[in-house]
Amino acid sequence: MIKTEKKINIITLGCSKNLVDSEQLAAKLEENNYKISHNSEIFDFEIAIVNTCGFINDAKEESINTIIELTNAKNNSKLETIIVFGCLSERYMNELKEELPEVDVFFGNYNIDQILEYLNKTNNKQKYTRIFDSPGHYAYLKIAEGCNRNCSFCAIPLFKGKYISRNMEDILDEASYLASIGVKELILIAQDLCYYGYDKNKTFELPELVENLAKIDGIEWIRLHYLYPFLFPERLLDIIAENPKVCKYIDIPLQHISDKVLKSMNRGGTKEQTIQLLNRIRKKIPEAVIRTTMLVGHPEESKYEYDELLGFIKEQRFERLGVFTYSAEEGTRSFYNYKDEITEEVKNERAEKIMEIQQQISYELNSAKIGKIFKVLIDRIEGEFYIGRTEFDSVEVDNDVIIKSENILNIGEFYNVKITGFDDFELYGTVI
Ligand code: SF4
Repeated sequence: MIKTEKKINIITLGCSKNLVDSEQLAAKLEENNYKISHNSEIFDFEIAIVNTCGFINDAKEESINTIIELTNAKNNSKLETIIVFGCLSERYMNELKEELPEVDVFFGNYNIDQILEYLNKTNNKQKYTRIFDSPGHYAYLKIAEGCNRNCSFCAIPLFKGKYISRNMEDILDEASYLASIGVKELILIAQDLCYYGYDKNKTFELPELVENLAKIDGIEWIRLHYLYPFLFPERLLDIIAENPKVCKYIDIPLQHISDKVLKSMNRGGTKEQTIQLLNRIRKKIPEAVIRTTMLVGHPEESKYEYDELLGFIKEQRFERLGVFTYSAEEGTRSFYNYKDEITEEVKNERAEKIMEIQQQISYELNSAKIGKIFKVLIDRIEGEFYIGRTEFDSVEVDNDVIIKSENILNIGEFYNVKITGFDDFELYGTVI
């Protein structure tokens, strides 16, 4: 009889790239007979593993507070061991060791072998297994680690290192495996998808990768997250336009539009180039939904540049938009070159104003969907409603389609849904 090992709770903070690492780690631990939970709030586990985020101040605080909560629980619950790894740990290992001696071990960036070795376990089963922290019909697929851009505000390359593309064959193998276990939607992620292949072969290979992924039976949607706007692989637009499996969803973080701010951010492109790219996208793929993120409160953003950004957002009417406030991160060029003199209050006001504008834009765009029919993938059930998404909506960040149905719908299946209602960031519909 196989001996069941202790219970482990894996707590994942930060982005979808961390989620992939945690899902793979969970599978390896389960193969070693541990009982796994993801993000459990009930302290019914002996080992806690925290996958941290070290991106900006808010994320760092969240990671540290989580660890402190666990160290407090060590005295009054079953919890025996705390293992910490990930971006924050990579970035501040020495400080964390000093400040949080109750943590049993800190590791840096994800390294499955280190963690298994610490637990006296081995890594000898199937290469791509995962325990999803999701229903399993969509999966994030990481195609690279690190980043070779040098955005002056960004600390990520400091702790994630240079861009390393995974081998295309390896990615295709993993995607085939995911399809074989029921994944229908692949969500490609990396710090920068567009750079894929260039570090190894001096050619941008994302178009080829996407075309190959689309040939895999069982995969119905391929969604691309984080397409850097400058040195954009143009052939990708043709593939998105023509290949029905590739979602007409373009996630392109622009960060700003003022030339002065773009330059100080060291983004490597201009306002003119940005507008030209957006025009090409709109022309080639008129039905495309564009998602972007903006960064407000950079030290070089005066009221003038901020107003320029507001005007641009109103003019472009992005279908999806998120906004961050600037965080002065030690080690970055912006940290050393500029004084962070814009108050948090002003930064937050700037962000809120943008989201107010975006809310109105999203409301208007959603109103135009009434009566239209969309192919919807059902993600989950909430109370008496089925919750799904169209190809124009990614997981967690975009519109849900909320469906009331007399008939039973299957999670992970596609249905044609007629839109009957809407609000700012949600759609309501019925299956036809
Ligand atoms: S592209 Fe720029 S913002 Fe994104 S991870 Fe790389 S350096 Fe950071």
